[in-house]
Amino acid sequence: MVYGIISDVHSNLEAITAVFDELKQRGIDKTICLGDVVGYGANPNECCDLIRESASYVVLGNHDAGSLGLTSLRSFSKMAVSVCQWTGQTLTDKNKNWLKNLPLIKEIVGAHGCVPLLIVHGAPGNPPQWQYILSLKNAITEFQAFSNQICFVGHSHIPCSFVERDNRYNIVESPKFTLKPDARYIINPGSVGQPRDKDSRASFAIYEPENRKVEIVRVSYDIKGAQQKILDAGLPEFLASRLALGK
Ligand code: ZN
Repeated sequence: MVYGIISDVHSNLEAITAVFDELKQRGIDKTICLGDVVGYGANPNECCDLIRESASYVVLGNHDAGSLGLTSLRSFSKMAVSVCQWTGQTLTDKNKNWLKNLPLIKEIVGAHGCVPLLIVHGAPGNPPQWQYILSLKNAITEFQAFSNQICFVGHSHIPCSFVERDNRYNIVESPKFTLKPDARYIINPGSVGQPRDKDSRASFAIYEPENRKVEIVRVSYDIKGAQQKILDAGLPEFLASRLALGK
């Protein structure tokens, strides 16, 4: 079994297409999506269609919820609010219904003795609060909130992993690592459609439970194509320019 872990696609069809091409080449069995399928980019329906058909498990993100009017937009920037409104008007009823019924948090009991995984968009302690896990301090708090060996999270758009072993906590520095059987992990695969770690390439993760390997993968995609669509849709110019900067 090989899982592809994707998050924060944000209506970027060019990026998710490049990621699915790479997943196919790597012989992925199942795809897990950690939310924020929509918001920011110009192709919300196309991204929903693709992920609904291709992903085995999907959880709700704050921009998905915001576009449907299901969460407060108080913490959203003015720009994000305007895109949520545009996205809500653009989504088909079929896609709205699909997003509306996504869970906030989900446990996946894998086949062939895989350990049960936890998946959530923000943080496992209080999913509807959409908290970020940006620091070791945040991670230490969140490790207390779940008991699974692995929790995959999205939301920050920054690929980053944390490990807990014998009550000691660390950041995992390498993008490719082997899970220790007696350690627990919080793993963020980064963002497919709007990376914010100054690397403009789409980010995602590969997880192989049998040999306990995790790898953060980056792929180039047609950034110019995605930018042009954002401008053509009349969405804020910054949403196009930031894609090339990875921020
Ligand atoms: Zn996001």
